[in-house]
Amino acid sequence: MQIERSLLPNSSLLRLENWQIDFMATQIILNVISTQALAYCPLCHQVAHRIHSHYQRTLADLPWGEYEVLWQLQVRKFFCSNPDCQRQIFTERLADIVAPWARKTARMAQRQTSIGLALGGIAGARLSQTLGYTTSRHSLLRLLVSFPKERVKTPTILGVDDWAYRKGRNYGTILVNLETHQPIALLSDRESETLTK
Ligand SMILES: [Zn+2]
Repeated sequence: MQIERSLLPNSSLLRLENWQIDFMATQIILNVISTQALAYCPLCHQVAHRIHSHYQRTLADLPWGEYEVLWQLQVRKFFCSNPDCQRQIFTERLADIVAPWARKTARMAQRQTSIGLALGGIAGARLSQTLGYTTSRHSLLRLLVSFPKERVKTPTILGVDDWAYRKGRNYGTILVNLETHQPIALLSDRESETLTK
């Protein structure tokens, strides 16, 4: 069995074309192509066959030793085959491999989410850096905000942290139940009146 079959998250949907190693930057760059046979429109869910174009996404994956691993992932845009659909062109989804618009693989996001849930923003970002998962406190908090939440009960120990939702310029507040380590609310600003409400 080829090593890539074991290392890629789903070798039936992906193919490793080639790779380079950058010793100066301590990076391994994998050129990966999506090979999934069928693409479904995310709006009308019809299968599409006509390719519109290709484009490349750069994704951070789990590190290998001291080396950061980056994917140059080539994905395709398709024409939706449903003439009544409002989405005429869409980018193929690779469920369980990468979320739409994400800049890291799903398995990388899952590990960072686990760290963030256990430790919160500041300590979580520090441990992530030590483990070679390049991230900031605010991107860790953004992962927590997108984490699926269960029905919220009033917490007895509440954690409050701020987070940037527009590239470090606009700040909101995140509330975390520190007993369950679950984020429970996201406030649009950092004002004490909003927090009190
Ligand atoms: Zn459609």
